[in-house]
Amino acid sequence: MTDDVHEVYAVRYAHHDRKAPENFIGGDPHDILQPLAYYVWAIVGPHGTYVVDTGFDRAMADKRGRIIVKPIDEGLQTIGIQADAVEDVIVTHLHYDHCGNHDMFPHARYHVQDEEMAYATGRYMRHAHMRIPIETDDVVAMVRKVFADRVLFHDGADEIAPGITIHRIGGHSKGLQCIRVKTRRGHVVLAADASHLYSHINEGRVFPVTFNVGDVLEGYRTIKRLAESPDHIVPGHDPLVAEIYPAAAPGLEGLVVRLDVAPTRVG
Ligand SMILES: [Zn+2]
Repeated sequence: MTDDVHEVYAVRYAHHDRKAPENFIGGDPHDILQPLAYYVWAIVGPHGTYVVDTGFDRAMADKRGRIIVKPIDEGLQTIGIQADAVEDVIVTHLHYDHCGNHDMFPHARYHVQDEEMAYATGRYMRHAHMRIPIETDDVVAMVRKVFADRVLFHDGADEIAPGITIHRIGGHSKGLQCIRVKTRRGHVVLAADASHLYSHINEGRVFPVTFNVGDVLEGYRTIKRLAESPDHIVPGHDPLVAEIYPAAAPGLEGLVVRLDVAPTRVG
């Protein structure tokens, strides 16, 4: 393995059944199930292990009507990652499904965009509509980490380690960032919620929870520019990701998959 080439995993931890029209501004003509899958991601390479997002716990799943399929620390253990040994967590944005489990990584520092922290603690949070995907306790927990000097702030594009860069996209949340990782099959982009499903980026459609529609659409272009090919774009909530990428090990099919290996079919 060279100095800047990494393994990348998607670790599926939760599930939500919903109808397709709920996933798009303007709805969808098909009244079919289009569930969301919930993931965290792990980047493993010569510079250590980087966990991307921290998901939510069972209490939050109950509160929000989601189903935990495998607790995140157990999912990470299947690929040899002990949560309490993780030193770096990259938080894509401060929505409840990306920054819970506040104490799961006690020795990690957290990489967050300036813009996202300002957004989640600023004037827009006075509005109930803007708070729908954001939990007070998650934001407070992150503020506590700031005061404990455990947050590394980034302003736009930045390098986390050789072969790992972050890119502010905004749109869905004001300071949302995606991650570009060099792998043996080329540069993979973990889009997170810059594209919830393949259909969002492939068809130029927009998820209903959105801070700025224009930035979502511009973000699709940025992601396509950063990724080696459309096959290298990993949407944040598409159940297909867990199906079309190979399992990290036998028995992990549909739960923990390798993204640094080509998918078995097109998303
Ligand atoms: Zn999300």
